[in-house]
Amino acid sequence: MAKDNLECSFCGRKKPETNLLIAGLDAHICDRCIEQAHGIVIEEAKQEGQQELANELELKKPKSIKEFIDDYVIGQEYTKKVLSVAVYNHYKRLLQPKSEQDDIEIEKSNIIMVGQTGTGKTLIAKTIARMLNVPLAIVDATVLTEAGYVGEDVESILTRLLQAADYNLDKAQQGIVFIDEIDKIARKSDNPSITRDVSGEGVQQALLKLLEGTTVNVPPKGGRKHPDQKFIEVDTSNILFIAGGAFDGIEKKISKRLNLQAVGYSASRTEDLIEKENMLKYIIPKDLKDFGLIPEIIGRLPVLTHMNPLDKETLRSILTEPKNSLVKQYTKLFAMDGIAFSITDGALDYIVEKAIEYKLGARGLRSLCEAILTDAMFELPESGETEFKVTKSYAEKALQKSTIKKLKAVS
Ligand code: ADP
Repeated sequence: MAKDNLECSFCGRKKPETNLLIAGLDAHICDRCIEQAHGIVIEEAKQEGQQELANELELKKPKSIKEFIDDYVIGQEYTKKVLSVAVYNHYKRLLQPKSEQDDIEIEKSNIIMVGQTGTGKTLIAKTIARMLNVPLAIVDATVLTEAGYVGEDVESILTRLLQAADYNLDKAQQGIVFIDEIDKIARKSDNPSITRDVSGEGVQQALLKLLEGTTVNVPPKGGRKHPDQKFIEVDTSNILFIAGGAFDGIEKKISKRLNLQAVGYSASRTEDLIEKENMLKYIIPKDLKDFGLIPEIIGRLPVLTHMNPLDKETLRSILTEPKNSLVKQYTKLFAMDGIAFSITDGALDYIVEKAIEYKLGARGLRSLCEAILTDAMFELPESGETEFKVTKSYAEKALQKSTIKKLKAVS
């Protein structure tokens, strides 16, 4: 065949119509078909990659999700149930094969948890990420500011997520972002126009798009220190956002609202039913709005739940029950030195009492244990001892010596 009569075996173009025609054994292929084929290969690989990710993602049913969380988080039954359903629905939506998608679009179920610090908000988010085997970024809303101001842009959240996913974009796009202290970016006053509120409403506005689902150009190493880096395009539509905050003082707004509602013939009945110790139980989106979150943000965090304050029994269980409870951790540490560690019920009760007295919550349990056990952890490894039992009187004495008592004055 004359050279000019050669043609692409795929599209039929004659050689002069192509930029390049490559010969195979019995066939030819032109540059355009190569490009097209390349595109198909990439697309296929992507689909397979996504399928692989989907297979990696271990989605359990809501009841099993809750059972998994139960191993790590004590109490908080209501929140664990709500979150199990929200997480299940979120990832079910995400794992739905493209072919089965119709015009019923399942919306994202981003979550907001309201509750005092140290009640397990971060722990729940961490546990869910661990269960699903997805990357988790924990960010503090207080460091975020509007673009152009001192602080971090909201895109930095996605930089963290990329880092948590080892820069695997597909994984990051199915990850979880936990935004802590969301209450700290509440609008400071009801009149937004007086001064610019760069760390409040401005940040809320900037967060909106991320929460809803959008494509963002993310600087992979973080924004301002590396101005020359290439951006990575991150699609946030499948990222699950969980926000948490203490919302100090919101109880007052809730009780005010409840009292207002109670005015009327059923007042006494409503009053009877309200559990005054735990006002957060009655939280509704309007309370968040009254606190200073803008309605659009509230709308994009449709799953609202609360954390209960930790009572004595819960604190006591936290010491011993979770899979990686403090007592289990110390037992393991001592065992590594060949020492059998044990602690009496009296000592455990004493630690709980002190945690409550010092108003340290669950976080305080760790500091108290450290204060009580430091001497032993210093002395025993070289002592040849094979047993170490902590009694109430041992704990009392050890705590007397330690400086943790000073915390009392601060709280
Ligand atoms: P928050 O995010 O609400 O401020 P964290 O989740 O960071 O609180 O909790 C602090 C620590 O207290 C956790 O690391 C965990 O050890 C312990 N803790 C708090 N609440 C619980 C709980 N409900 N169950 C088990 N441990 C808890």
